[in-house]
Amino acid sequence: MQRRNTKQRKLVLDAVRQSYNHPTADEIYNAVRAQDDKISRGTVYRNLNLLADAGEILSIKTPGGSRFDRTIEPHAHIICTSCSRVIDVPLPFDAQLDAKASEQIGWNVTSHYTIFEGLCPNCR
Ligand SMILES: [Zn+2]
Ligand SMILES: [Zn+2]
Repeated sequence: MQRRNTKQRKLVLDAVRQSYNHPTADEIYNAVRAQDDKISRGTVYRNLNLLADAGEILSIKTPGGSRFDRTIEPHAHIICTSCSRVIDVPLPFDAQLDAKASEQIGWNVTSHYTIFEGLCPNCR
């Protein structure tokens, strides 16, 4: 059982690492199913969350739901409001922003994320 768990987690991790396009959990599920037709949707979703919690992949909250990213360094994203495509936005990441926000409001700010919205070249 333990062996199977480890193998399933590896399949999910590999599927995310082979994706360039910030896949949804469903897209990962479909990719993993091609390797292991017995794996359940619940198992794939659970492993995605475990891998994100462990910092092996990035989970991005977008207006349409969670997307997954093989790039774990903090970076900005943009989502197309028409086709829901997500790509990286190469802007400098301001690591000081959490501290600045903490100072302003007296909270212990631990993270922030940037998601732009707009139309991709195919949709505009
Ligand atoms: Zn689009
Ligand atoms: Zn990204």
